[in-house]
Amino acid sequence: MNNTDRDQEVCDLSIVGHVVSRAGSYPRGEVRITDGRIVEVLEEAGDAPHTERIDAGSAYVLPGVIDPHVHSLSDPREGIEAATRAAAAGGVTTILEMPFDQAGPIWTVERLEAKKRMVAEEAHVDVGLFATVRPGGGVTEVAGLAAAGAVTFKVSTYHTHADRFPRTPDDEMVEVFRAIAATGRRVCVHAENDEIVRKLVDELYETGTRDPRAHCRARPAVTETAAVANTLELARTANAKVHFVHMSLPHSIDLVQSYAAQGVDASAEVCPHYLMFTEDDMVTMGTRVKINPPVRTRADVEGMWSRLTADAIDTLSSDHAPWPIVEKDKPNIFDNASGAPGVETLFPVTAAVGLAERGVSIESLVRVSSWRPAELFGIDHRKGDLRAGLDADVVVFDPAAEWEVDETVMQSNAGWSPYHGMTLRGRITRTLSRGETIYADGKLTSTAGRGRLVEFGGGQARQAQARTA
Ligand SMILES: [Zn+2]
Repeated sequence: MNNTDRDQEVCDLSIVGHVVSRAGSYPRGEVRITDGRIVEVLEEAGDAPHTERIDAGSAYVLPGVIDPHVHSLSDPREGIEAATRAAAAGGVTTILEMPFDQAGPIWTVERLEAKKRMVAEEAHVDVGLFATVRPGGGVTEVAGLAAAGAVTFKVSTYHTHADRFPRTPDDEMVEVFRAIAATGRRVCVHAENDEIVRKLVDELYETGTRDPRAHCRARPAVTETAAVANTLELARTANAKVHFVHMSLPHSIDLVQSYAAQGVDASAEVCPHYLMFTEDDMVTMGTRVKINPPVRTRADVEGMWSRLTADAIDTLSSDHAPWPIVEKDKPNIFDNASGAPGVETLFPVTAAVGLAERGVSIESLVRVSSWRPAELFGIDHRKGDLRAGLDADVVVFDPAAEWEVDETVMQSNAGWSPYHGMTLRGRITRTLSRGETIYADGKLTSTAGRGRLVEFGGGQARQAQARTA
């Protein structure tokens, strides 16, 4: 098809604005959409015919956000329906859904199939599913779980809960890494040193401390960095693609980068809470910012921003843990659930603060929120960029709009947010999923069950591109 022919074709929807795609950023670009797919991205918006046009003015037109770390079912009062509703309002058009469900970890094909049915019935946005591996022999399920649709896997070096979120010991970890590598998938690791944390928590718990900072003292920096360093060696031995979730420390990022420079396929994730809060906030906000790993020092926060700005971090995730506040009101800090809701605030908070206050470029933000997660998790054949052939998942972000985060109007059933009351410059004004507006100007226009399962594509789009280049 030549350009003249293409110009004659009527598309369903044309979106005009400051288009940011991997191929380039175009202050007055155009994204043309038909049947839920992008048919063309134009550097200059034109007069080519369209059935409908959305003119975003000077606002950014971005690929839909991929949140690769959402726990919809760690508390069943949330579920896929509420978590993906919150995603839509936050510009997140794809979630990767964690496998540590209250009803039992996703480590058999049967459980994965049940979760696929749940997605089909409830999801507002598209969902890729994580699986995990049962310690003590579950490695034999890995190939079957991948074949049944698991996009990626997650394991933990830290023993959170015997049934729901157990630790995989080192001797099994290498075997598990090898089995996952054989499927072409990336393995995600929760990296905290089990022995040190366990001992410190036991000691501090006994004191009955009411100082919420005890949570930070129980998980000092070495408990993360030692687990990262050890896991990098295991991954190197196993030739695994390894992704470190919710990294809280600049030194962890530097470790991952140094192994990546040595040829290990290692990548790292940060969450907004490690960019926004410090240990001092434990005093004023208490259990609201009790998260594992804990929030760190001011210097660590500065270090994480500098690494984000330098493109040394691969993905941005919410680690959405939608506990209702009643799970967060116990006097002893250690008796409270860890984690906070965040899928709805993930992009607006990070983008607003990053662009307006931290000098992060829009390209660096889109890199961690769309481009890199799509390619790392092998879903870039459908997701993660504004490019012909991909799903028309689009976010309109107005960097000039000021607003205040209000937990009382959020979509998650958690009903609260650690960002409540924050004034931000920069706001999502519209979310489109496969060409359909599912959120606009504060109103959700989505329906449960419209979301689809995202399948692993093995990074084929990128390989095909490389061949033709
Ligand atoms: Zn998590």
